[in-house]
Amino acid sequence: DWVPADKVVETTCPYCGTGCQVEYGIKDDKVIWARGAYGPANEGKLCIKGKFGYHYVNSPERLTKPLIRRTGIPKGPLNGRPIHEVFREATWEEVLDIIASKIREILDKYGPAAIGGIMSDRSTNESIYAFQKFMRCAIGTDSIDQSATLCHEPSAWSLATQLGYGAATNPIRDVLNSRTIIVVGSNMNETHPVIAAYVKRAAKQGAHLIIVNPIHTELARYAEYELLIRPGTDVVLFSAMAKYIIDMGWYDKEFISRYTEGFEDWVRSLDAFTLDFAEEVTGVPKDVIKEVARLYALEKPSMIMWTLGITEHENGTENVSALINLALLTGNVGKPGAGLMPLRGQNNVQGGADVGCAPGRLPGYQPLMDSEVRRRFEEVWRCKLPSFIGFRSTEMIDMARRGLIKMLYIVGENSIRSHPDSKAVAEALSKLEFLVVQDIFMTETAEYADVVLPAASAALEDYGTFTNTERRLQLTRKVVDPPGDAKPDWWVFVELARKLGYDMGLRDSTDIMRDMARVAPVFSGLSHERLEREGGLQWPVPSESSPGTLILYADGFPRGRARFRVVSWRGFDVVVERLYPYSLIIGRERAQYHTATMTSRSPVLRVIWRGPVVEMNPEDMRAESIKDGEVVKLLSPAGEVLARVKASTRVPRGVLFTTFHYPELLANTLVPAVLNPITKTPAYKDTRVRIEKV
Ligand code: SF4
Repeated sequence: DWVPADKVVETTCPYCGTGCQVEYGIKDDKVIWARGAYGPANEGKLCIKGKFGYHYVNSPERLTKPLIRRTGIPKGPLNGRPIHEVFREATWEEVLDIIASKIREILDKYGPAAIGGIMSDRSTNESIYAFQKFMRCAIGTDSIDQSATLCHEPSAWSLATQLGYGAATNPIRDVLNSRTIIVVGSNMNETHPVIAAYVKRAAKQGAHLIIVNPIHTELARYAEYELLIRPGTDVVLFSAMAKYIIDMGWYDKEFISRYTEGFEDWVRSLDAFTLDFAEEVTGVPKDVIKEVARLYALEKPSMIMWTLGITEHENGTENVSALINLALLTGNVGKPGAGLMPLRGQNNVQGGADVGCAPGRLPGYQPLMDSEVRRRFEEVWRCKLPSFIGFRSTEMIDMARRGLIKMLYIVGENSIRSHPDSKAVAEALSKLEFLVVQDIFMTETAEYADVVLPAASAALEDYGTFTNTERRLQLTRKVVDPPGDAKPDWWVFVELARKLGYDMGLRDSTDIMRDMARVAPVFSGLSHERLEREGGLQWPVPSESSPGTLILYADGFPRGRARFRVVSWRGFDVVVERLYPYSLIIGRERAQYHTATMTSRSPVLRVIWRGPVVEMNPEDMRAESIKDGEVVKLLSPAGEVLARVKASTRVPRGVLFTTFHYPELLANTLVPAVLNPITKTPAYKDTRVRIEKV
């Protein structure tokens, strides 16, 4: 039985990209429970984070006042010092004046390229949109980014380049219409439990389920085939499947000739990907590769779902393209039960990219450097847009470390723990002339700030929209008031712009949505009024009479033809492998979320944490004479950490697994800042390490 509440408010879950609808019970202006509401993605279901992850909003540790670093206190970890010893409280008026004057000073001295901004994808579309408009129009910089660079930007880039839109093609529930499902690079049971429930249902109904992952996952219990692939070899597996499908004549000739280009060049590039080669490189037996290829090509419709095990590699864009090529080859695009489904990690990472918070990309994926696009935006926004393409977040951190970026404005991102090479991030933040951090809690990143701004929780204390992993914009409603002087993110940007002499013309969140609909054709038919009336809608929504777009490319491709992309595989670096014999995979666990700033406040979730451990195969432990629970040193080319070893049969020999949830184990210290050359995404899923006993 639910404890009686004063009121119940329905909104959208603040955690993963599934976009589950939640009802919160409120008593005395505090959230006292959460339960599933009926939404198109969740049908009343919630996972453990959705049910028990709300305590953060009531936490006494919330930031409630703007804070200014006291004179002479060096930047860096508080190391147990009370916040008020390092920062003093201020009014909004004072703090915004200080930030505006510092921005003017840096602009005068170095120009707009010396300022960058990193925005949170846990914020609303409206706030993220306001942020990019503020940074571009009020400051004049295009160096703006959000968390996609650290996770799914390779998916967005490859999908947009080859098909037209950087987003999932089909709705989540459509997996129930698939006859074959490939889940690759995803521990969906832990990261997207509600979507995993649909996949299990589909498998129980008779769909062929194939799991491709370097470590064993619970979902594999429902699978016909589990391919424990060697880390970093996905391109080889999927290219070999494609070659075999072509050799057997199982490809969709009509779809290819009618809708695609680049087929012949791509086919020629597949010569090296023989079944023997694929078996040797990936560790997957060739008979299994043949059977999986047959199911995918002939037992249609077939869907491919993936998470960050595909994207967080130096060759993440190649990995995603190998999946897209396979879907085009077999005509598994633009149809019910088919398609390509990147599963987004943060509740609004899809929206963050859609509303233009990325260098060179204006809202609705419109290119900043297209003269007609620029003219239209400059007319509507009444500002001069930056004349240079800015930098991605990983590049901004590196430029700050090298003294080229002088100011960063970081909103709701704990960069010290979420970016690669944590030591280099700390060095970068220390060197900045000015760092503004806006968040709901004091984080390790905020400890380096000159100014800390208290934010309202986007999911529970603001009104706006989130876009889930199936492109669906859904409302998030104000459930309780923000604590103290905390303000919605968009309010801060609007006020700061005013201080800098630019009126953004945005009075509230609803006004911002109108602005978005004016400038981005994919949102033209959207408004808060419509979403209140009709529920969530999937973009593109080109007009008020459009019901949104359930399945992309059902009527063809926006550029006329989809493109095959030639991909290559670089091979293993045998020298590095000899020096660092283990492949470390950094991922997530069910009861935690990212750097745990929110989930660590839940007494329920704390009970089931796995803790700061590194999982290791028992045979490797025997070979290294390591006991279960022993603390060892992990070393990589980037750094070293101490970690407690946990024996685990779910990881194969030569592979280690840990998470980035725990401050006691700063796993990203080990990840070198080796980035995908196109999207600048780090390789969190294949860091070479060695182990030393301590
Ligand atoms: Fe929230 Fe994702 Fe869990 Fe749904 S599956 S309740 S959106 S964390």
